[in-house]
Amino acid sequence: MSRLQPVRGTADLLPDSMARHRYVIEAARLAASRYGFQEMATPIFEFAEVFTRPLGESSDIVTKENYSFADRGGDMLTLRPENTAGVVRAMMSGGLTQSLPLKYFYAGPMFRYERPQKGRMRQFHQVGIEYLGPSDALADAEIIACGARFLQSLGVLDSCVLHLNSLGDTDSRMAYRAALIAYLDGFANQLSADSQTRLTVNPLRILDSKDDGDRRILQDAPRLEEYLNADSKAHFTDLTAALDAAGIRWLYDPLLVRGLDYYCHTAFEFVTTELGAQGTVLGGGRYDGLAEMLGGPKVPGVGWAAGVERLAMLGESVTALKPQIAVMAADDDAEKAAFQLAEQLRDVGLDIDLPTSGSVGKKLKKADRNGIRVAVILGSDEMARNVVQLRNLTTGEQQEISLSGDDTVAPLATKIADNLQAP
Ligand code: ATP
Ligand code: MG
Repeated sequence: MSRLQPVRGTADLLPDSMARHRYVIEAARLAASRYGFQEMATPIFEFAEVFTRPLGESSDIVTKENYSFADRGGDMLTLRPENTAGVVRAMMSGGLTQSLPLKYFYAGPMFRYERPQKGRMRQFHQVGIEYLGPSDALADAEIIACGARFLQSLGVLDSCVLHLNSLGDTDSRMAYRAALIAYLDGFANQLSADSQTRLTVNPLRILDSKDDGDRRILQDAPRLEEYLNADSKAHFTDLTAALDAAGIRWLYDPLLVRGLDYYCHTAFEFVTTELGAQGTVLGGGRYDGLAEMLGGPKVPGVGWAAGVERLAMLGESVTALKPQIAVMAADDDAEKAAFQLAEQLRDVGLDIDLPTSGSVGKKLKKADRNGIRVAVILGSDEMARNVVQLRNLTTGEQQEISLSGDDTVAPLATKIADNLQAP
């Protein structure tokens, strides 16, 4: 029986979850479009290098979350754990590095081999934007404003805090990295196991540790902000001034980092108080080093990704739209005519359900349970007289409607609309 369950960490999106899901994606699509981001899609699998190459020395840490496999041709492929690397790869594959700036929006599934828990899945979905080309802090402000507008349109912005940090440029970050390692080396065997590994491969990520022991050690660690050079400080000041001007509230969070080396300057997260430990609904930053690490020219970029499942758990409830109109054959002889009539009504733009088996009584009962509000019933007798019965399931009223005339279904369609309008 276990084979009839979805794989651990994955979930089916049945119509009501799908409706919430689509609602979130549609809101993101609208917000992205408001800022001039155009939708695109990359394949859900890529050559493994697309994800491992930019990670350099820290690759083993991140690839342990990856779904990678050799395909029948012997190529190592990876199901995408995120979409930024894929989008940057697509820019280079498409020869678009001469056509900057590029502004892209995407939505789709991502795959990470993580420990599943509430708000953390192995197949999950993200919406995101990438702004490729500009290195100006105003671009960072724009994408953050777009994220805020997206969350606002879902009604969740008020329960979110925008955490913001600067990782500085490469020089600043390397200087800090050295200082952090020198400090943490003194505590090497007191750090958590994860942090001990990170100390050699990805020390900045230790700042983000949730381990209490690590956090105590970090209290006296050197602060990243003290290592920011003038350029790095200017970028951050420009960004915060733009956010302030737009009325976007933010919280300075010196411990917020993105682990990977290609991230620089801006790092940010919108965190909600309503989802417990998995409270980050949208996160992003600047990744000026990524294109080069993938083997292309230097192309600055900044972007964010948001978790669709986490956002779908918040906000107002949305339910799937079901048809409200059914066409029903009252006997076997009328079945073909009922099918034809359903097609004609669909032709004029109505959503029609056509229940297939059982007596009219049974069909009506089921239809009522399923949210159908108007039933169009026809049997042999109605066919002979070229009429149908129109039944309002809310009031129980029924009336006979003629199908003769030039525009046969138009009067019926009008009557259906009248019945759906009435409270
Ligand atoms: P976390 O710290 O929660 O692991 P992350 O830094 O790995 O997050 P990002 O790579 O920045 O997350 O992805 C952006 C967003 O995608 C997250 O803020 C979250 O909303 C969502 N997300 C990330 N991983 C998962 C997952 N395994 N299941 C569901 N949503 C996820
Ligand atoms: Mg993660």
